Amino acid sequence: FFWSITVSRFWSPFVKDLVPYVPGEQPKLDNLVKLNTNENPYGPSPKVIEAIRAQLDDSLRLYPAPNADDLKQAIAARYGVNTAQVFVGNGSDEVLAHLFNALFQHGKPVLMPDISYSFYPVYCGLYGIEAKPLPLDEDFRIRPEDYRGENGGIIFPNPNAPTGILLPLDGIEQILQANPDSVVVVDEAYIDFGGETAITLVDRYPNLLVTQTLSKSRSLAGLRVGLAVGHADLIEALERIKNSFNSYPLDRLAIAGAVAAFEDQAWFEECCNRVIDSRRALSESLAGLGFEVLPSAANFVMARHPQRDAAELAAGLRERRVIVRHFRQPRIDQHLRITVGTPEQNRQLLTALGELLKG
Ligand code: PMP
Repeated sequence: FFWSITVSRFWSPFVKDLVPYVPGEQPKLDNLVKLNTNENPYGPSPKVIEAIRAQLDDSLRLYPAPNADDLKQAIAARYGVNTAQVFVGNGSDEVLAHLFNALFQHGKPVLMPDISYSFYPVYCGLYGIEAKPLPLDEDFRIRPEDYRGENGGIIFPNPNAPTGILLPLDGIEQILQANPDSVVVVDEAYIDFGGETAITLVDRYPNLLVTQTLSKSRSLAGLRVGLAVGHADLIEALERIKNSFNSYPLDRLAIAGAVAAFEDQAWFEECCNRVIDSRRALSESLAGLGFEVLPSAANFVMARHPQRDAAELAAGLRERRVIVRHFRQPRIDQHLRITVGTPEQNRQLLTALGELLKG
């Protein structure tokens, strides 16, 4: 993939050197089994749709609530914190962008796993921050004991992406305790699929910031809502940065839909449990086909077939209208990252893989 080979003379040197993130493919859906970008296979709560519909009137001429107070209240109530400890933004990608800018120190490296969310190095480039990737162990686990020494901040997804492997809370506390002078960000994009949130630690660690998204467990990737929870001082820094970019964190539809999503806890739990059950079944079936599957606490699995080239398998799946993600990155270039779909989608994936492995 070439981002661009032309450089306009109107560009600043800064833009010329920027290497932007390449998002996962969003093909038109006709008959595709789309298991490449970790969306939820189940739709959002009907109450979310209803709440968004209720916004579709003359009130759209008005600006949204500048502080998204209703949503902050819903999030604060859900996690037992106060609203001054909550930040919201357009997807957790925007929340991450602001925290890299607001909370990571320049002149010292920001520590992150060497296999993790590929947006982190992009933000480092955007804000002129040095990234220091730390290798995972031989089982693809984060080694908490490596996260020490002088640094400008620490960030990792939990569960990690794209491995899906969960770091238990005691590992997170180990990192927090070794780094009292750095902000430690736990990116919990996938926490609701069986992990335990670190939000319970924010009152004990003023240097902890936890980010989450409504894109995965709450089936709202299209609405673009992300959040952060941490000490009010950290949140205040994020608000300053955000207000220097745009004055409204979210649009009216997003606020209404997100509030409704937090109100329908039963729908959320039902969808998460279905995904967790399907993940178990999918992992077992993949193992049955000879794949080595990393233990996932997310809504995707990382799997590698010892005898088959991952890029070829991904291409073969695509010919059979099943789309998964393949990363051309050291250590994981023989893995496929497969989003957990509905049981029917998973069956189609497994049938296609079965055919490819026979061939
Ligand atoms: N963090 C991680 C680890 C992710 O995989 C993703 C999804 N690509 C995000 C954050 C961003 O999610 P969103 O912007 O949809 O909230």
